[in-house]
Amino acid sequence: MQLHNFNAGPSILPKSVFEETARGVLDLNGTGLSVLEISHRSKEFKEIYAQAKSLVRELLGLDDRFAVLFLTGGASSQFYMSALNLLPDDGTAAYLDSGSWSAKAVKEAGRYGTVDVVASSKEDGYKHIPKGYAIPESCAYLHVTSNNTIFGTQLHDFPEVSVPLVADMSSDIMCRPIDVDKFGLIYAGAQKNLGPAGTTLVIVRKDLLGKVSRDIPTMLDYQTHIDKDSAFNTPPVFPIYATMVNLKWLKENGGLEAAYTRNKAKAEVLYNEIDRNTLFEGVTATEDRSIMNVTFVLKNEERSAAFVQQCEEAGCVGIKGHRSVGGFRASIYNAMPLASVEALVAQMQAFESTHG
Ligand SMILES: *Cc1c(COP(=O)(O)O)cnc(C)c1O
Repeated sequence: MQLHNFNAGPSILPKSVFEETARGVLDLNGTGLSVLEISHRSKEFKEIYAQAKSLVRELLGLDDRFAVLFLTGGASSQFYMSALNLLPDDGTAAYLDSGSWSAKAVKEAGRYGTVDVVASSKEDGYKHIPKGYAIPESCAYLHVTSNNTIFGTQLHDFPEVSVPLVADMSSDIMCRPIDVDKFGLIYAGAQKNLGPAGTTLVIVRKDLLGKVSRDIPTMLDYQTHIDKDSAFNTPPVFPIYATMVNLKWLKENGGLEAAYTRNKAKAEVLYNEIDRNTLFEGVTATEDRSIMNVTFVLKNEERSAAFVQQCEEAGCVGIKGHRSVGGFRASIYNAMPLASVEALVAQMQAFESTHG
């Protein structure tokens, strides 16, 4: 049976990416060595690494102001690493609290300076993106979570502010073109929309570094990884390789404009069914609906287990909502084909005809 993988992360990647990656595990480009056993200082890995970085630059349109790094520790480590590097002891950073991941970022940054939560949708169960807030004039940056993976909301427009944006883009990086000029730092765990778990993409504007006086541990200093080109210690060779193969796929399939067009079309098909179907309803503010993580519920929640079971029997796996919110969540990242979204919609329609 063909499976349709709606898991939130680690998550779907294109089949051709699995195949190419698998070939590299067996024999990397005819070298006779597996990508799992080459040195991170070998010519082969240096090429992989250079290609991964140049694909990130090309796809996002980054110029030389930005450094591209592949680090470890997940997006969760960036919650403190970003503040450690960019928030002065006596400084303030503005944070937009739009979901659980934002709240975690707030907590970690608060260890290093003053955190001003300029707006929060927590009271509303994070069902919308807060809007219409002002940020303190002298803040070092504004931190936003571009897509709230758990709740299914997304910033469709980045705020117009005079300070650099720091963005956790873990679950929607490369889902659309962005205006990179607005950003001082972008970070994303690879396992949602970039590749397998094990590396974190960090894009940092170099002129923002070196402005805090605190003693930053060597491994947590972005400058270390810039100076040593992400090879101060052993980088996550395999996740970087698989990510590079996936970025190549993205480029070959038209880059971010084309991905955005496909992503919007997939999301529309699913949201249209959620709105049409008499048994289901959406949970987030319509204008903030995510095109990556689509959340919805059954009006009669007692039927939820039956729907999950029916979906699984039809090959639609991973649609259970996050354990903290329940309901359903269909993650429809870049690699998700429209046909898989249509397969889920067919299950929603079948459920309506048997239970409606
Ligand atoms: C998954 C996720 C994280 C956590 O990522 P890890 O790599 O597991 O630390 C952080 N932020 C967002 C928006 C996420 O979706």
